[in-house]
Amino acid sequence: MTPEMPKRSVDTSKPHPARVYDWLLCGKDNYPVDQEVAEKLPAEAKANAARNRAFMHRASAWLAHEGVDQFLDIGTGIPTEPNLHQVVQAIRPAARIVYADNDPIVLRHAEALLVSHPEGVTDYIDADVRNPEEILEHAGAFLDFHRPVALSLIALMHFLPDDQDPYGITRKLVGALPSGSYLVLSHGTADQHPELERSTNSAYKNGAIDLRMRTRAEVEPFFEGLDLVEPGLVTAPEWFKEEPAPVYERSGFYVGVARVR
Ligand code: SAH
Repeated sequence: MTPEMPKRSVDTSKPHPARVYDWLLCGKDNYPVDQEVAEKLPAEAKANAARNRAFMHRASAWLAHEGVDQFLDIGTGIPTEPNLHQVVQAIRPAARIVYADNDPIVLRHAEALLVSHPEGVTDYIDADVRNPEEILEHAGAFLDFHRPVALSLIALMHFLPDDQDPYGITRKLVGALPSGSYLVLSHGTADQHPELERSTNSAYKNGAIDLRMRTRAEVEPFFEGLDLVEPGLVTAPEWFKEEPAPVYERSGFYVGVARVR
């Protein structure tokens, strides 16, 4: 946690994305204001959240099998087992993972993220992705940026409206990664269920949460200049590697894993 940051407390008077998502994953770290937003979301939202989380598990495990042992995960969310470090350290016990989120409730639960395998390291930064320099500087104390790092921005960038420069921020973060690194990104979309777009947007809007679902053409630029690994930019259940293909289901998320040249 950065020392100059005022200590923020958990505000239970307005909904927060991390807690709405926690409710969708059947977690217990949410409040009535969050439940109110979540319950107004289309019924598919729960399954979509679970499919997004399952993508995180598959992509992180695949990267660990590929030899990646350093991870920077921004927009981590409230701990939900298995967390990224548990997936990765089950394969590479000495892996080093830095987590970042800007929500005080995630900070409050960060201890669960800090229980690293004794051979590895985990760390948590209370920081905002809109301040990428701060995150990179902090991560540099734990990760070696001369060796490949997997940067994950999972279910995060749809909380940044266009005027907050989501593409530029992503480029800045990716620009700090050496060749052979990876970007793992998932992003909310209504392409698969256009009939639910209005209710999804209005549930978040009523909770005063900015949500900017993006079309496929709007998600593609996040991967500009990178080499998407197979199966490319697909919906969450369609991204798989060694395991048999999951049964096809509609999904509210585009996902992709791309290699830095
Ligand atoms: N990545 C996890 C959690 C997704 S929920 C998963 O996919 O399972 C989105 C998370 O992004 C929340 O925890 C929320 O607090 C965080 N978040 C939203 N805006 C953020 C910002 N500007 N900076 C950092 N984290 C942010």
